[in-house]
Amino acid sequence: MNFELSREHVLIRNMVRDFAENEIAPYAEQLDITSAFPEEIFKKLGSLGLLGIPFPEKYGGSGGDTISYAIAVEEIGKACAGTGLSYAATISLGSAPIYYFGTEEQRQRYLVPMAEGKTLGAFGLTEPNAGSDAGGTQTKAIEDGDEFVISGEKCWITNAEYSDTIIVTAVTGKDERGKNIISAIIVPTNSKGLTITSPYDKMGVRASNTCEIVLDAVRVPKENLLGDPQKGFKQFLYTLDGGRISIAALAVGIAQQALDKALHYAKERKQFGKSISSFQAIQFKLADMAMEVELARNMVYKAAWLKDNNKPFTKEAAFAKLFASETASRSANQAVQIHGGYGYMREYGVERLIRDAKLLEIGEGTSEIQRLVISRQLGC
Ligand SMILES: Cc1cc2nc3c(=O)[nH]c(=O)nc-3n(C[C@H](O)[C@H](O)[C@H](O)COP(=O)(O)OP(=O)(O)OC[C@H]3O[C@@H](n4cnc5c(N)ncnc54)[C@H](O)[C@@H]3O)c2cc1C
Repeated sequence: MNFELSREHVLIRNMVRDFAENEIAPYAEQLDITSAFPEEIFKKLGSLGLLGIPFPEKYGGSGGDTISYAIAVEEIGKACAGTGLSYAATISLGSAPIYYFGTEEQRQRYLVPMAEGKTLGAFGLTEPNAGSDAGGTQTKAIEDGDEFVISGEKCWITNAEYSDTIIVTAVTGKDERGKNIISAIIVPTNSKGLTITSPYDKMGVRASNTCEIVLDAVRVPKENLLGDPQKGFKQFLYTLDGGRISIAALAVGIAQQALDKALHYAKERKQFGKSISSFQAIQFKLADMAMEVELARNMVYKAAWLKDNNKPFTKEAAFAKLFASETASRSANQAVQIHGGYGYMREYGVERLIRDAKLLEIGEGTSEIQRLVISRQLGC
């Protein structure tokens, strides 16, 4: 067993860290205030090849592994969690399903531009009445000649306004037991009948683009069906398993930022004639934060390693997502506590971490759903 990062992993970490510290972190507070999407940052991420890390070069990627990708998410998320969320979503939810399940033609046509950073990608699963229970999808795709006619509504879809295509889940029929068959279909965002708006005023991850999508008899060719229509549900569960590794990596970035800021502040701030870092109550908070960050990162790397080695990783991805997101919330909360009243003020940049971290306990399966996934893996 070897716990050391490879030379390539260290190189990617240093490169992304440098970029994130210089080109993302200085804008994070403003992006949070204005809730503006960082288009320019994404253009640069694209030109550095960072939007294609886990895909082969023949699909416009850089041929990296899931560990490299997780390292990049952590570093970007540490600088700005909203940017990190959009980064993780375009790769894990927009591009990856096309790489996993797409035909060669679909990969060339849709994956290559995303991996090269020419457009972002989005995945539309959630609906107003189908969140944790994705089996309750109401959006329908009805066959009409060579086309699907899709009608329905999706909510809180990350990146849709900046994507050329959205992968939309829809009911395409019934199986022999009378249960809905849910398939994934690639829908170009310039399709007639498709409306994308971003009406949400979010608590955190405010730099990410979050959209409402209305599909009103949207026609797409049948060849836009992604993967096996009978296995649409299984396919998106696999997609979400992969996505959870990246959400966990994003949580590690937030937790590490909380620790770094709290440690720095604790050494500077003096009360009762001493640095507050000399008080055991503060030291123990920092010790717990450091231990949990380390553990969460190891869980991310293990899940990523299992995926890269084609081993089952559903349980470990859920472990990582659950533990890392709750770690991020705890660490952010303690960072504010260590900053005292200053931590409650926006300019210190720690209250934002609490707001950003909370999303990671909800998106890509809530903490309750992660516990369900884990208990099912245990055979319950
Ligand atoms: C900023 C943001 C970005 C997002 N991006 C995307 C995206 O790109 N694509 C996409 O498809 N979706 C996206 N989502 C949606 C997200 O995945 C859902 O919000 C999430 O899956 C939970 O669904 P829900 O909000 O409907 O909650 P609900 O399912 O209504 O859950 C409400 C509460 O009930 C609990 N609960 C539900 N079922 C059970 C159960 N069986 N046992 C125990 N507890 C249960 C939940 O854990 C939660 O606490 C995004 C959401 C946000 C906020």
